[in-house]
Amino acid sequence: KLIHMERIVQDGISKMTMLAEVKDIILRGEVESPILLQADEERLHQLLMVLMDNAVKYTPEGGVIRVACHKLAHTVYLEVEDTGVGIPPEHLPHIFDRFYRGDKARTRQEGGTGLGLAIAKWIVERHGGKIRIESKPAVGTRVLVTLPAG
Ligand code: ATP
Repeated sequence: KLIHMERIVQDGISKMTMLAEVKDIILRGEVESPILLQADEERLHQLLMVLMDNAVKYTPEGGVIRVACHKLAHTVYLEVEDTGVGIPPEHLPHIFDRFYRGDKARTRQEGGTGLGLAIAKWIVERHGGKIRIESKPAVGTRVLVTLPAG
């Protein structure tokens, strides 16, 4: 089915608005419209929820989360960037593993199973795409998803 990326991003932002507000986090959405993609709408929504949920969880009060989507040639780029705690370089190779959780996450009371990114990767790969994460401790994290658009 052809889906509108603008709608996926808008839905994601409206679902996370309350949580972000509680933490005084600014949510920014930048979508080039219209971007149409042959994809499973429910799965893409779930993908964005995992990424935005992590961004909110690991970003301290007063931070900024940016969700952006644009298309270049035959590729759709979906990005979630935060100004959060970041991921130490020694953890980066493991974060897509099932049940893997960083130190901070493990010692936190708050829920979480360590399945989020494993699910995200699964969804992206099912759509023939790629996911990668760049992160700097105490600076922030950027997740970049690329999806082939026919
Ligand atoms: P959940 O299954 O509820 O999402 P989780 O957040 O612990 O739990 P993943 O989403 O798989 O699990 O993430 C794995 C680990 O990667 C996290 O425990 C955390 O250490 C790190 N991580 C993921 N996203 C971010 C982010 N935006 N900023 C900082 N660390 C992150």
